[in-house]
Amino acid sequence: MSVLVVEDEPAYAEALAAGLSQEGFEIAVAATGEEAIRRFAERRPDLVLLDLVLPGMSGLDVCRWVRNHSSVPVIVVTARTDEMDTVVALEVGADDYVTKPFRLRELAARMRAALRRAPVPLRGAPALETIVVGRVALDAQRHAVDLDGEPVDLSLKEFQLLEVLLANAGRVLARGTLLERVWGIDVPSNPKTLDVHIGRLRAKLSDDASSPSLIETVRGIGYRFRPAEPSTTPPT
Ligand code: CA
Repeated sequence: MSVLVVEDEPAYAEALAAGLSQEGFEIAVAATGEEAIRRFAERRPDLVLLDLVLPGMSGLDVCRWVRNHSSVPVIVVTARTDEMDTVVALEVGADDYVTKPFRLRELAARMRAALRRAPVPLRGAPALETIVVGRVALDAQRHAVDLDGEPVDLSLKEFQLLEVLLANAGRVLARGTLLERVWGIDVPSNPKTLDVHIGRLRAKLSDDASSPSLIETVRGIGYRFRPAEPSTTPPT
């Protein structure tokens, strides 16, 4: 798998390239946004690891450019203080983010997870009519949701919210993205509306809000539907 690492600090870029090569990735490095675009066009990488703070062209603009030209996963690298940039990056199409400092193992695991996911266009209607993620199945045509094979009764907004979350399982979805996708131009004036709907969805899916196994809260950013774990041990 080839990865384009966009990072302007040479020591950091070198350490990332060395570490990720050991994890089995083929690495190209770009030190600026302009170089990133040139390299992307040349090499067509399978994934982009993108530092948001770059000299010249910003990481957000690189993210927009990549998303306009390709559906490959983009993982942004941010500092803990850049929460707003992280939100915007997710809204313009980044798949996931890691906060510095991070462990290389964790980064590599997130990269593999992003590569495993089929690219789902964030804009427009979900391509699939039936989406199954772990214990939850959503049939868009019948407008029905099952949990462990048992039907779950959802309101229209709850259904639409779950549909967006499932279609993007594993991706962090920013609050603004969810509000726009589910409520459209009628974005509710009360910002708690989204949390109230998430709360109801969790209750109906028997998901425990304090340690959710289905819908995770990503603090300050939004929500993520947990991807199904690849099963390691066969059931007995
Ligand atoms: Ca930087």
